[in-house]
Amino acid sequence: MKIRILPQTLVNRIAAGEVIERPASALKELLENSLDAGATEITVNIESGGRNLIAVTDNGEGMAREDLALAIERHATSKLADDDLLKITHFGFRGEALPSIGSVSRLTITSRKKNENSAWTVRIEGGDKLPMEAASCNPGTRVEIRDLFFATPARLKFLKSEKTEQQHIVDAINRTLMAHPEVSIRLYAEDKEILKIAGQQGDMLNSSLARMAAILGKDFAENSLMLESVRDNITIRGYAGLPTFNRGTSQSQYLFVNNRPVKDKLFAGAVRAAYQDFLGHDRYPVLALFLELPHEEVDVNVHPAKSEVRFRDSRLIHSTIVTAIRTALGNAGYRASNTVAGAAISKLAGNMGGGGYGGGYSGGGGFNSRSPGQFFAPLAAGNSGLETIFAADLVPGARPAENFAGLPDYTSYPLGAARCQLHETYIVAQTAGGIVIVDQHAAHERIVYEKMKESLAKSSVKTQKLLIPEIIEMTSGEVEKLLAEKAELVNFGLVIEKFGDSAVVIREVPALLKDFDIKSMIRNLTDDLEESGQLLSIKGAIEHVCGTIACHGSIRAGRRLNVPEMDALLREMESTPNTGQCNHGRPTYIELKLSDIEKLFGRK
Ligand code: ADP
Ligand code: MG
Repeated sequence: MKIRILPQTLVNRIAAGEVIERPASALKELLENSLDAGATEITVNIESGGRNLIAVTDNGEGMAREDLALAIERHATSKLADDDLLKITHFGFRGEALPSIGSVSRLTITSRKKNENSAWTVRIEGGDKLPMEAASCNPGTRVEIRDLFFATPARLKFLKSEKTEQQHIVDAINRTLMAHPEVSIRLYAEDKEILKIAGQQGDMLNSSLARMAAILGKDFAENSLMLESVRDNITIRGYAGLPTFNRGTSQSQYLFVNNRPVKDKLFAGAVRAAYQDFLGHDRYPVLALFLELPHEEVDVNVHPAKSEVRFRDSRLIHSTIVTAIRTALGNAGYRASNTVAGAAISKLAGNMGGGGYGGGYSGGGGFNSRSPGQFFAPLAAGNSGLETIFAADLVPGARPAENFAGLPDYTSYPLGAARCQLHETYIVAQTAGGIVIVDQHAAHERIVYEKMKESLAKSSVKTQKLLIPEIIEMTSGEVEKLLAEKAELVNFGLVIEKFGDSAVVIREVPALLKDFDIKSMIRNLTDDLEESGQLLSIKGAIEHVCGTIACHGSIRAGRRLNVPEMDALLREMESTPNTGQCNHGRPTYIELKLSDIEKLFGRK
């Protein structure tokens, strides 16, 4: 076989294969170039989900004629001033994006450098460069990609529907612009404006929160916890959503490493670990974290699309993220997201026929179809005073209202004073400004669970000797890794020993886990160690069992409680961490403000 050097266009197409997976990845590169050029206003136009057109216009510094000519050459960049790959201060540094895109599409770049009068256009179609032409435009740059992948039809076949590709485009915009609140952006699809994010003024913290609210919604701002953690030279800032404010995909999780948006396995794992205790497996929290660390601690040159990074000490980063999130969540106490009440209200309003008073009570059957007169006529007929209508003896079986006079007044407490129990399941409490409805089983289960965890953390775990030790085969590398954690595992009640070069033997297991599939737990443990360097699954398994025990050991729905018992439960919720949601991320209580209730009755 004869070796030959590949032609330039082919080399660029190979690079494009890595960097430009779909229209959104091409757009991401253009946006990063605009940000690198110091743009503060960016306009994006797309057609057919980016397949026919992606155009980005910015007001950045622009390019002079000779730079424009170089921009489409491979490995040409203005961003690596002192050739140091560990001191990367821009999004770009590879000088690959534009020539790669130009090799698989029809690319036109028009640019005018700031303080210069003339503009120039350069064009490249499927890798063929056309002669440069004079042009006219405002200072800044416009990059137009037409017919992406026309030169590589195989790639074209991988594209999803226009709608899906457009969704990816919106996501790329959100992700790239999240860490740059000062920049404003508009997105037009087929000339229709579909996204507009205004530039934020003011100090970084406020503008960054405003930007998050613009991208993740106002609800996020109201249902997230600020977190900040400084450990050695690592700083984490950001917002973590309350567990009850969760989503069905991990799409709304944002991580920035030195302001670069990153989609990282380590991050996903850390988030899962931090919330594993609060959410079911199919629910994902919403969060945005900004990780700041010295440039030499992180290598961004590991992924062609620069969307993954490698940390020098990944274990430390992982545990710093988990701790920061857990600390924030721990401080949330009994708080559940306020969207829970909103969801409850829209459900209630919906059932009243179209929402609000205007919809009227005419729909449905039963109560709704009768006029108030039907209820009151017989009573009102022979009596003069209103008080007789409500006199207890007129209503057979009615008991006098419970007398709260002798009890402490808890109405100023966050979860209020218990007033009654309905269906032996729900506690209704009165607060200073509204009412709270508590699911007694879910709330108590969570309290018991938190208590068990607390005592587990304080004392060591009880172990159980296996009558027949379990032998588990694995690679010698895995054996080494697992044995390095031997001492730590003993703390969790797991006693392991080396068994030849490629197996371990399990002699004792945590008593709580005696009925567990130990083999698969050890498998998960080695995966954990591989992925994050932490022993998550054993903690997870123990917590899972605690959860199950807690579930069986707590007040069942259906048990009758008296007022002091109910008040005691509410106070426990207030003083125990993480009681705003049950072990599956569902809320344990709903709060309705008087203003919400008034809305339901159309009073406001
Ligand atoms: P990289 O961003 O890695 O340097 P690119 O291929 O994306 O590589 O871009 C090549 C060069 O073209 C950049 O280094 C920059 O000097 C210039 N450039 C690209 N886009 C713009 C823009 N929107 N405004 C100003 N200069 C740009
Ligand atoms: Mg670039």
